[in-house]
Amino acid sequence: MEKNRILRDTKIVIDLARISQNVRLIKDMVGPDVALMAVVKANAYGLGIVPMAPVILKSGADYLAVATLTEAVQIKEAYPDFPVFILGHTPDRMLDVVAELDIAQTIFSLHQAELLSQEALKRGRRAKIHIKVDTGFHRLGKVPTDEFAAEIKAMFALPGIEVEGIFSHLALASEEDDIKQYEVFTTFLAKLKEMGCHFKYEHIADSIACVDYPGFRMNMVRPGALIYGMRGFHVGFLPVEPAITFQSAISQLHAVKTGEGVGYDFLWRAERDSLVATLPFGYADGYPRQMRDKGYVVINGVKAPLIGVLCMDQVMADVTDVPNVQEGDVAIIYGDGTDGAMTFQEAADLLGTNKNDVLCRLTTRPPREYVNNPF
Ligand SMILES: *Cc1c(COP(=O)(O)O)cnc(C)c1O
Repeated sequence: MEKNRILRDTKIVIDLARISQNVRLIKDMVGPDVALMAVVKANAYGLGIVPMAPVILKSGADYLAVATLTEAVQIKEAYPDFPVFILGHTPDRMLDVVAELDIAQTIFSLHQAELLSQEALKRGRRAKIHIKVDTGFHRLGKVPTDEFAAEIKAMFALPGIEVEGIFSHLALASEEDDIKQYEVFTTFLAKLKEMGCHFKYEHIADSIACVDYPGFRMNMVRPGALIYGMRGFHVGFLPVEPAITFQSAISQLHAVKTGEGVGYDFLWRAERDSLVATLPFGYADGYPRQMRDKGYVVINGVKAPLIGVLCMDQVMADVTDVPNVQEGDVAIIYGDGTDGAMTFQEAADLLGTNKNDVLCRLTTRPPREYVNNPF
């Protein structure tokens, strides 16, 4: 069988030229003195990190960031030399893997730095770490105290450790709160510098912050959503473009008479003689079941509402008003808004969640198809 052949009509099409362009736009925005750590956690927000990593680095990213050790291992197995950083905590008993694969790790205790130092020395190298400071989010990291400063100072003295960076994360609660967090961070940094602790990378800004707060870019930014073309910013602007289309194709058309039901429990009944299309996607593909009575697809440029219960593998759409509709016609589930296709933002609004959540819900079942690779 032909390798990489797409064996399903329901698929996620990723436009690599747009991904590349988005990375370049971010890099151009921050300028040459600010490093770009591309956040590719959760398998590049579900899009597939292995095919995308080379594109992201060639387009100007300096580092790849993931959330977990398993994600870091996935990248290192494919590309041993790519620089990978783990934003999350790695338990003590797995730090040998971090050292073995030369992965940069988030650290916020001297205890873990010592363990990692030992593991790195066994392998004749130094492990890179970025120190996590809790400036108010209370998710990961330690609050900036004299005690923590002393721990950090001691980390610099460990023979198997290279303290490469220090970072924090904003709650994005309000501009006032963000400024407070930033000031807590920079005050702590000034104190560390007085103690002789200097860092190659200092970072706090995610996608929203790196556009909305140019003053918070420090010398590294950590955008994720922006790379995939999602515009979450409020004050600033960057013309990143959506790079993802989730699509399917009609598997069958049914003529349904007035009064007849469709789907489980007949929760939808035809109020007129209707044309109903079956589409081969469902909640096992990560299409939220809660979209019932809200969701639609776009076929031939016309919106077709989804009707009745959304099933695991199939859904039905009312296509009575779609001119010349045929079996096999493409249905756009989520797109870039062209022809009225539902955007990730609109889906997020309908579901009462955020765009990253809608994107990450897409499961591994729909094949990913990569198009327009610029390299
Ligand atoms: C996920 C994450 C990011 C990127 O978030 P986006 O909103 O997608 O830009 C940056 N930093 C940390 C610590 C994260 O967990």
